[in-house]
Amino acid sequence: MRIAGFRIYSIEIPMRFGVSHSLAARRVTSNVIVCAIAGNGYMGFGECCPRPYVTGETVDTVKRELLDNILPPMLGKCFSNLNHLAEYLSSALKNINKNQQAAFCAAELALLDLAGKTYTKSAADVIGPPVRRKVRYSGVIATDDPVKAGRFARAMRLFGFKDIKVKVGPSLEDNFHLLKSIRDHLPPSISLRIDANCAWSADRAIRQLLLMKKFNLAAVEQPVAADDYEGMAEITAAKLTDVVADESLCSIEDAQKLIDQKACDVFNIRVSKCGGLINSAAIYHKAVQAGLACQLGAQVGETSILSAAGRHIATRCKHIRWCEGSYGFLLLKHDITRTSMTIGPGGWAKRIDRPGIGVNPNEKKINKYKTEMIEVFK
Ligand SMILES: [Mg+2]
Repeated sequence: MRIAGFRIYSIEIPMRFGVSHSLAARRVTSNVIVCAIAGNGYMGFGECCPRPYVTGETVDTVKRELLDNILPPMLGKCFSNLNHLAEYLSSALKNINKNQQAAFCAAELALLDLAGKTYTKSAADVIGPPVRRKVRYSGVIATDDPVKAGRFARAMRLFGFKDIKVKVGPSLEDNFHLLKSIRDHLPPSISLRIDANCAWSADRAIRQLLLMKKFNLAAVEQPVAADDYEGMAEITAAKLTDVVADESLCSIEDAQKLIDQKACDVFNIRVSKCGGLINSAAIYHKAVQAGLACQLGAQVGETSILSAAGRHIATRCKHIRWCEGSYGFLLLKHDITRTSMTIGPGGWAKRIDRPGIGVNPNEKKINKYKTEMIEVFK
């Protein structure tokens, strides 16, 4: 398999409803799709959702990194099988900084998809064998309006979700109203966890969590700023509920720091921010060795390409406690693949056993939502 060239697409897809949290609000998703093209004309597709408040990347920085640094060394390279490509990608990862990880993810997934299709293997074979046939995803409520939140909670109960995550904000009073409205629509058997997206200080987090005890929260995600590892450690030590690291966890170095400083109980692994499948699996293994649990997270607005990559992590990594993402048509007005990854009733979804990443992006649809396309050939 010889790498003949790449296409980089910037795409924008409208969402069915607005999603907001402490760091962002959006009604349209801006993603980057990379298409890797082999000498024989085969194509593989990868995706990333660059978010400046996570890895510091934007659609523009991703395009620049791909064009200037990530794709040029890959052009003209030949790979004899999937393992050969995985070895190359693992060594290329060593030169990738945190603020290039989403860009690398799009290129990595495109090459793994291409190699998987070429050698009729699942791209996910590079992270290990399957451990389960199906997985159950959580619902996520991301609105600061308690009435709307109550409606979402009711709809999610009827859909059959067992676990729900709620985006909360800085004010205890507002959060209390929001959680009360949600809890009123749910039986106690449905678990609730919250994500503060860096909204609090450690003191404030501990105060809020003490007062939120009646909601029996299963976890709090990223209560303090991404670089406040001391604050994360303080909240973890308070043992009020499990602490999930999200914005604080992008790279292997972040993972090590969180472990060394005992700064969380759970890692939130998202394939786009973590630099692709291979690095996500490496971060997962670090968590397991340290006795931590993991959550499979997602980027708001990901298409079925990133959702499929996430599905591989969820079905091939044993110690995943919660899964998010794969909302497909439930969140996006349109998708760009022929095979949709959208979850079914109850949040259930099946393992993907098809070659490559396992979804077939439709170039016509990609072209429909593209704002720019750049070709890179040797
Ligand atoms: Mg989060």
